[in-house]
Amino acid sequence: MTEKISKSEEEWKQQLTPEQYRVTRKKDTELPFTGEYVDCKDDGTYKCICCGNILFKSDDKFDSGTGWPSFTKPAVDSHVTEHEDNSHFMHRTEVTCNKCGAHLGHVFDDGPGPKGTRYCINSCALKLDKE
Ligand code: FE
Repeated sequence: MTEKISKSEEEWKQQLTPEQYRVTRKKDTELPFTGEYVDCKDDGTYKCICCGNILFKSDDKFDSGTGWPSFTKPAVDSHVTEHEDNSHFMHRTEVTCNKCGAHLGHVFDDGPGPKGTRYCINSCALKLDKE
């Protein structure tokens, strides 16, 4: 069982930039093609900006053309949680960090990998640990 992290809104606000807070704690979406990791090809591990949980690997990153970092799969399946999301008049599957509940992005079924999943993730929800 992963140890869960729970902080107050005030604690998150102090730890995060306004954009990081809005996206990860308020389920907002960063503007496409603006994030730090959209075109990043560096090797390493993408961790949760809020809690450091290992989320995605550079090996699974691909250029989706959407303007957001995209991955074929999580680094560890159990590190992310998927939820049905019917907001904004759309039917989507939200992806969150299983440790701290951070909103990361959404997963779609039109990915290029064998499982066909495309994890569309906000740059500002991630921190790349370069190898
Ligand atoms: Fe987290």
